[in-house]
Amino acid sequence: MSTTDIAFRNARLTNGRTVEIAVSDGRIAAVSSDGYAGSSPSSVVDLGGRLVLPGFVDGHIHLDKGFIGDDWRSHRPCTAGFDVRERVAFEKEALAAARPVPERAAAMIELCVSRGTTHMRSHVDIDPDVRLRNFEAVAAVREAHHDKVSIQIVAFPQSGIVTAPGTRDLLEDALRDGADLIGGLDPAGFDGDVEGHLDTVFGIAERHGVGVDIHLHDPDMLGIFELGEIARRTKTLSLAGRVTVSHAYALGQVSTSIVRRTADLLADAGVAIMTNAPGNMAFPPVLLLREAGVTVFSGNDNIRDSWWPYGDGDMLERAMIVGYRSGFYTDEELAVAFDMITTSAARALGLGEYGIVPGGCADFVVVDALHAPEAVVARPKPREVYKAGWLVAQNGVTIAGTLS
Ligand SMILES: [Zn+2]
Repeated sequence: MSTTDIAFRNARLTNGRTVEIAVSDGRIAAVSSDGYAGSSPSSVVDLGGRLVLPGFVDGHIHLDKGFIGDDWRSHRPCTAGFDVRERVAFEKEALAAARPVPERAAAMIELCVSRGTTHMRSHVDIDPDVRLRNFEAVAAVREAHHDKVSIQIVAFPQSGIVTAPGTRDLLEDALRDGADLIGGLDPAGFDGDVEGHLDTVFGIAERHGVGVDIHLHDPDMLGIFELGEIARRTKTLSLAGRVTVSHAYALGQVSTSIVRRTADLLADAGVAIMTNAPGNMAFPPVLLLREAGVTVFSGNDNIRDSWWPYGDGDMLERAMIVGYRSGFYTDEELAVAFDMITTSAARALGLGEYGIVPGGCADFVVVDALHAPEAVVARPKPREVYKAGWLVAQNGVTIAGTLS
């Protein structure tokens, strides 16, 4: 699918300028205040002065876990406080009774696209039980929806690596079959072997030339130690800009001086941090990390699944939650929350040219708001979502890519 010469007129940007956006072959050819400078566009869309935001980037989601498109599943609490291993066991039981992955993953994609997400990174469970079934299902759903959203897949060892024999080979198979990144999970807290876990993860990254995205719930100084190990390995393998630690709750649990020291290590190594500021969990101090030069971005993570019942796929809502829990009040701070679901997330995902700029993908969301800070606070529901210049969602409903 490609588009040629569409002019989006009366588009208001976050900087207040009203411009015309010229799109050719799915990319932005020009952004001009003076009208379309090229040949006559074959199609003109008048945006009526509404705000145009770059397509939202959901930097962390689990397309194989959600119950969107399934029956309501009541949350089952852990027996004695949050326990990742018990959570995984409960999840396996719940998913065994749920509708097939392709149905649920497709429903979640439709939901997210309808809210303005045009790029996402999905972790997909791989273990000796599900083997590559979830991965193959999500890869097929990705292909079926490639006109609406671009999706990176992380081969995610949700049941561990060292403690789940056979997983390592399955992860290698997934990378050979088209997974984009290698994942990891609590090297100490889940696998009980920091070196063994990280050797496997970074070894696979090196052999397959892919990036890394590790779930790290391990707390306090244990988590800080693991962040240092991840930074060290990232430097050794020259993987700067291609490694993410998701959650990194430890950064919200230790003293500011330790956070600063760790932030310097992460910035120097080029390790990004993903936070979705979940529930009542301590989470990384966003501004402090950014000041140190760390890329901090966001994602919805779990949406209506066994881990929690919340989430509606809306990245503006996620930006609001991150801002609310971070105590962001000023326009500048609200703009940081917005940046975490757009520009910083795009950088962490290595999306290349991004934003309403010449050369960028013509992926954008049209809303009624004055600017990005108001969009984060108000989360206006009427939205038009464009992917590669095609209208793919309107009023909360996805549509087959069509010219508006
Ligand atoms: Zn996750």
